[in-house]
Amino acid sequence: MKILVINAGSSSIKYQLLDMENEKLLAKGLVERIGELEYSSLTHKANGNSTTIMRPLQDHAQGLEFVLSTLVDSELGVIKSLDEISAVGHRIVHGSEKYNSAVLVNDEVIKDIKDFIALAPLHMPANLLGIEACKKVMPGKKNVAVFDTAFHTTMPDYAYMYAVPHSWYEDFRVRKYGFHGTSHEYIANELSRVLGKDIKDLKIISCHIGNGASICAVKNGQCIDTTMGFTPLEGLVMGTRSGDIDPAVVEYMSNKTGMDIHEVITALNKKSGLLGLSEHYSDHRDIMKYSNEGDKKSMLARKKFVYVIKKYIGAYAAAMNGVDAIAFSAGIGENSYEMREEVMQDMEYLGINFDKEANKNFERGVNYKLSKDTSKVSVYVIPTDEEMSIARQTKYVLGNL
Ligand code: AMP
Repeated sequence: MKILVINAGSSSIKYQLLDMENEKLLAKGLVERIGELEYSSLTHKANGNSTTIMRPLQDHAQGLEFVLSTLVDSELGVIKSLDEISAVGHRIVHGSEKYNSAVLVNDEVIKDIKDFIALAPLHMPANLLGIEACKKVMPGKKNVAVFDTAFHTTMPDYAYMYAVPHSWYEDFRVRKYGFHGTSHEYIANELSRVLGKDIKDLKIISCHIGNGASICAVKNGQCIDTTMGFTPLEGLVMGTRSGDIDPAVVEYMSNKTGMDIHEVITALNKKSGLLGLSEHYSDHRDIMKYSNEGDKKSMLARKKFVYVIKKYIGAYAAAMNGVDAIAFSAGIGENSYEMREEVMQDMEYLGINFDKEANKNFERGVNYKLSKDTSKVSVYVIPTDEEMSIARQTKYVLGNL
């Protein structure tokens, strides 16, 4: 069974074709700059080769047609016919409260996704374009929607409710939703597999630390809390997002500068976080480089970034009455041993015996143990694989039809 995974952005389509008989990646790639005709391109990786082809692409349907023709191309392709693709799994950012697992796309699902646009206006229209392109280019092919929020639907009400007028929730569904759910679900399952324990017997803290970053508390296999909120702005310090902030700042800055609310929120999303604190760098590698060279603002950004992660790990250990295992994942979590060392410093109180040497000499791209055998809490790097998670969930949905 071959499954095509699509992650559609506003001007891009990320794709992976996976053979789910053996969970093998057959091809992956990225269509970029859709709509910018002279700059549109496809980068396709298969059989150890990477190929970039420029081609004017007007819309997502044209982008998808390009992907499909490449997948069956006699030179670059990995399949003979599109009939070999059993289904397409789509990453959908928001499933609101309705979708607690992946579903086969039908008219009702499409209508719901349209209704949820207001909840994630930056992502949902693009996600929808991905589904519509598939329906147009491959009519009759099964599409499965895999929601980024679904894993978090198990949060108890006292975790997901904000302490605001109840009618905000009843009338407008204002609450914590959480994001990166597909990733946290994958990480928690993989960690329990590596530990050889049933996920139902574990208290896990999953740290997805990339440009966007969130932490999730997974107790007995279920998410009980996560750092992102109504939108992905809440929680940790991120590349350009502020994370937690007193909402009164929004009005204050609007009054002081003349920015309207939308402009202040945009600044919190796009000009804050590591970029805001350092004034120059949203990329964690730059923060490390310039803080090591003594740049004061980069040093502050580095410290604040680590401090908030530490704080949430402590909070989630408290929320779960302990922690058995902690995982670091995503671009920064998988790659920056300095960040991991700084987060794990002075955590003996939790029963963590961190192996600094193992952490420093870690192997990239594999599940890797960072705690000593004597540690009460197991600490691991678990490389996330959201596409594999989407493909697994798509296969599961097909199996239940
Ligand atoms: P992601 O959003 O998961 O793709 O992660 C992007 C972040 O990962 C950026 O801030 C990068 O600086 C960071 N990153 C990627 N590769 C490395 C690396 N080799 N060392 C340190 N950080 C890295």
